[in-house]
Amino acid sequence: MKLDRASYGRLPAHARCTRCREKAVVHLPGHHANFCQDCFIVFFRNAVKRAMKIFPLTPRKIILVAVSGGKDSLALWSILTELGYSTHGIHIDLGIPGFSEASRTASEQFAQSRGLPLSVFELKKLMGYSLPEIKKRTRRIICSVCGILKRQFLNRLALMEGFSVIATGHNLDDEASRLLGNILRHKEIYLEKTYPFLPDLEGVMPARIKPLFRLESEEIRIYCHIKGISYFAEKCPFSRGATNHMFLEALQLLEDKMPGTKRDFLFGYLADKKPPQPEELPMKNCTLCGAISYQDVCTVCRIKQEISGDRYTPVQDSLEKLGTVK
Ligand code: AMP
Ligand code: ZN
Repeated sequence: MKLDRASYGRLPAHARCTRCREKAVVHLPGHHANFCQDCFIVFFRNAVKRAMKIFPLTPRKIILVAVSGGKDSLALWSILTELGYSTHGIHIDLGIPGFSEASRTASEQFAQSRGLPLSVFELKKLMGYSLPEIKKRTRRIICSVCGILKRQFLNRLALMEGFSVIATGHNLDDEASRLLGNILRHKEIYLEKTYPFLPDLEGVMPARIKPLFRLESEEIRIYCHIKGISYFAEKCPFSRGATNHMFLEALQLLEDKMPGTKRDFLFGYLADKKPPQPEELPMKNCTLCGAISYQDVCTVCRIKQEISGDRYTPVQDSLEKLGTVK
């Protein structure tokens, strides 16, 4: 899809591309740069290539791409394919009326239009409950339960299906706002894990990579626009008031006054950090479902116990009955 100057109002009149001196269509104040459409794509690819360099991946490994149907994960899938990586998509349908159908459809249509393999799993089948059902039965903050369940099931499904690396669409804004939140709240344990790459623990935990961590949300939106990617743009109805949004708003305020702040904040922090090592805690098997866990009962089973009272069925049962829909 062709961009025109009108798409990005902040672009100064007669601006020229910083790379090739053609007419610019994109203005990136944080980089003190303007780009024409082609040079913007070069800039975008370079940011992802640069990110991929710090992930020690074995060549030809198939990357499992966690796809939500939103702009970040579809852009991620698109650029990884464009850069020649072998990928397989995975989508978890959370069962939120309206929102989940649209997320799933966007993921399926993207996969279909590009001939890419996608596996879809339903939380209701994995867990026995959809997210709205869990929300009704727990006092925990639903966003954090959802995050835990997605992470746990993505890990388990990746291992079951033979993948050792998962890529997610987290971008610079996500990472910088999370960093700000963890610093403000002195969450040292989480700070240690603030890194765009987590190595794998063989047979226990797949590696995690965030190839878009050098790119801002707005840059990803422009990439999707240029590439004609139809993504699902709505926010999850359960995430209203999530604290991460407030940290992002605070950072954005600084960014607008001092372009480049988000980038400097995150990259400055990461500059002298080394990739975290996988936790060397003794691993056990969950006494209820058999999954690998640091505790006697794994997080998924604990959440499940909390919400189901005595109507408990081990998670492993449902994992064995899983169907790959597509
Ligand atoms: P979020 O936590 O919703 O900001 O999503 C962060 C990343 O997690 C996305 O970019 C995706 O890579 C992944 N993700 C989120 N929701 C899903 C889902 N329902 N199924 C698979 N992956 C997901
Ligand atoms: Zn368990």
